[in-house]
Amino acid sequence: MGNRLQIDQPAGEWEYVDTHCHVPWTGGRSRTPSPEKQLEAFKQSHGRFFITSAIDLESSKILHEFAMQHDSVHFSCGWAPQTVTYTPVHEYEQDLQEWKSFVESRVDDIVAFGELGLDFHHAKTLQERERQVNELESILSFLLEIDGKKPVALHVRNASPRDKDTANPSHPYNEQDGATNEILKIMDSMGVNLNKVLFHCFSGPKTMNDYLVSRGFLFSVPSSAFSIFRWYNVSKNLPLDRLVTETDSPFQHPWLRKPVNTPSNAKYSIAAIANSHDTSQEEVARQTVENAIKFFNVR
Ligand SMILES: [Zn+2]
Repeated sequence: MGNRLQIDQPAGEWEYVDTHCHVPWTGGRSRTPSPEKQLEAFKQSHGRFFITSAIDLESSKILHEFAMQHDSVHFSCGWAPQTVTYTPVHEYEQDLQEWKSFVESRVDDIVAFGELGLDFHHAKTLQERERQVNELESILSFLLEIDGKKPVALHVRNASPRDKDTANPSHPYNEQDGATNEILKIMDSMGVNLNKVLFHCFSGPKTMNDYLVSRGFLFSVPSSAFSIFRWYNVSKNLPLDRLVTETDSPFQHPWLRKPVNTPSNAKYSIAAIANSHDTSQEEVARQTVENAIKFFNVR
């Protein structure tokens, strides 16, 4: 199965959680089992709860409904940076206003705000990047006003060398920590409590790990850390008491590069962390479940 990392398969009877997935998936092509089947398999393999994360208006409605029907599914409500970049201009404002009303009326059903963030792979020009920054600031200030105590789950993707904005080659947004630095600036200027902020699918750069830990953030390790060195490596020197597990399903499968992942595979994040931190899967499971319960304030 192409696991170059040679990590032991997950094995044992421990409980685990998936802190970030998209079930049901509303974004088109994915050959995953039905949401009910995914949940059943998750519970049968000792999954305690998963947090399903909305990215736009449509997914907010559908994921909310699914979460309300199942005790072991919690709902996180967000407006992803890709939604900012890809929603057709003529639909954007109306969708956003409707989403804001939705959030206001359902706030008690929401365990976290997210995913929110910046994605400089999907926004390659300075104009697109600045738009994501402005939208994030305005959405975040709206959300913090509704409830300033809820956890925030961030999607932060820095530009790779191939994502360089060629019209503005020396702009800091092109750097490997460009999006992360902008996020820090936004969080600080808005006075966000960083102990309540999670970097979902944390992707580095690794050079910022110590600083981000010192600022209080939590980090989630995707199931793909089981086979992809990049995901494995960035989480390697993060302390266990700051880590949680996720699948980002249907993405980030432990070894397949297709949108076919499901919440049960959060066990593979545990296997990856146990290997990188040279400890038992049981201990990683215990600690990551405890971290998630505390952070999201759920059972
Ligand atoms: Zn996601």
